[in-house]
Amino acid sequence: MNLICKKCKVEKDESYFYKHNSNLTKRSGACSDCINAYKKNWYLKNKDKVIQRSKNNYQENKERHISYCLRYRKIKPWVHAKNQRKRYAILRLATPKWLTEEQIKIMKDFYKNRPHGYVVDHIMPIRGTNITGLHVPWNLQYLTQEENSLKSNKIPVISGPLSDIGNSQRKDG
Ligand SMILES: [Zn+2]
Repeated sequence: MNLICKKCKVEKDESYFYKHNSNLTKRSGACSDCINAYKKNWYLKNKDKVIQRSKNNYQENKERHISYCLRYRKIKPWVHAKNQRKRYAILRLATPKWLTEEQIKIMKDFYKNRPHGYVVDHIMPIRGTNITGLHVPWNLQYLTQEENSLKSNKIPVISGPLSDIGNSQRKDG
């Protein structure tokens, strides 16, 4: 059955219309293209607000959020395991083959000696949008959970050439 979109007035097959129980036709009035375009537009216009709101939301519900994550991990351990596997796969990809054993040990110790309440963060995110950082000792730092959630995958502002980060903290074996 064909329906006419009330927004673009184009006649389209009903599969182009989302299911909508309260309407007589049981389909939404506007076609999915129109609805998606509207949603995208709205998001772009309100992006800053949306991001800020979700940040505030996280701060306000932090305890609940963390306890839910821990509970979820217990109820559905396979989901957690899958995410962990994904994480490890990304870490493996970001780990260069030329790392020495000593450098790998430095990284292991870095994770082991993580102070309570801190997470290990990659200074250059290993899942950055434009540049991808490496899983190497001189790209690791400790951040509080809070700092980390604010940073997300943004590339930090670095003064001086990138190679300086490597050289200043690099311990070649
Ligand atoms: Zn339409």
